[in-house]
Amino acid sequence: MENAYAEVARMILESDNVVVFTGAGVSTESGISDFRSPDGIWSRYDPEDFTIQRFVSDKEARKRNWQLRKELISANYQPNPAHHAIRELEKMGKLSCVITQNIDGLHHVAGNSEDRIVELHGTIKYAKCLKCDDRLPLIDVLERIDAGEEDPHCKKCGGLLKAATVSFGEAMPLREMERADRCSRECDLFIVIGSSLVVFPAASMPLIAKNAGARLVIINYTPTDMDSQADLVIHEKAGVVMQGVLEEIKRRRS
Ligand SMILES: [Zn+2]
Repeated sequence: MENAYAEVARMILESDNVVVFTGAGVSTESGISDFRSPDGIWSRYDPEDFTIQRFVSDKEARKRNWQLRKELISANYQPNPAHHAIRELEKMGKLSCVITQNIDGLHHVAGNSEDRIVELHGTIKYAKCLKCDDRLPLIDVLERIDAGEEDPHCKKCGGLLKAATVSFGEAMPLREMERADRCSRECDLFIVIGSSLVVFPAASMPLIAKNAGARLVIINYTPTDMDSQADLVIHEKAGVVMQGVLEEIKRRRS
């Protein structure tokens, strides 16, 4: 009987149109702690400060918000074997898109093309104006704060600047949701990597794919509520599994 890595490798080779869906578990091996884990970001910051309502109404909350962004950006996290394996899938011509719940931008750093990445919860690499929707590199805003600006506003229209991530209470980005939905419907293999599938509506994507006829693989360190729907489930670390899967693919192709 083939082992689980070989089975995933076989499914990938049999597919033309793979969607990968990533969550926090794909980035923990890069040193980014899951926001929700006991020593995660929400153990040091108050999630209430990160609602959109609090952000627009409270200058002190905005300061704490920028402080967290600065902490995340200056840590300079790097992609791990799971990210690299997903880039390899694109190189092989198998990947239709990578839908991610992560805001860390590591799929970009790993080398997946811009047009293959769907960031459902936004990205920490950019800031946006809440009024005119202008986008600018987040690092530019942090530099203004470092230079003494306490509460940076848009230079074009005076609106509030915020990291281009989806805050609690903020609507999901429509274009990204539509794209994720379409990719999920059209794929023939949907691979969840490092998501416990608890944050909706993002977590509805695997079932959309499954109901449209795709095979579903779930790779997550802990069980998920959707394990029973999957064709194959692997409860191990994302990087270890994806490296093993990649080796199996190379072995079968050589
Ligand atoms: Zn503006």
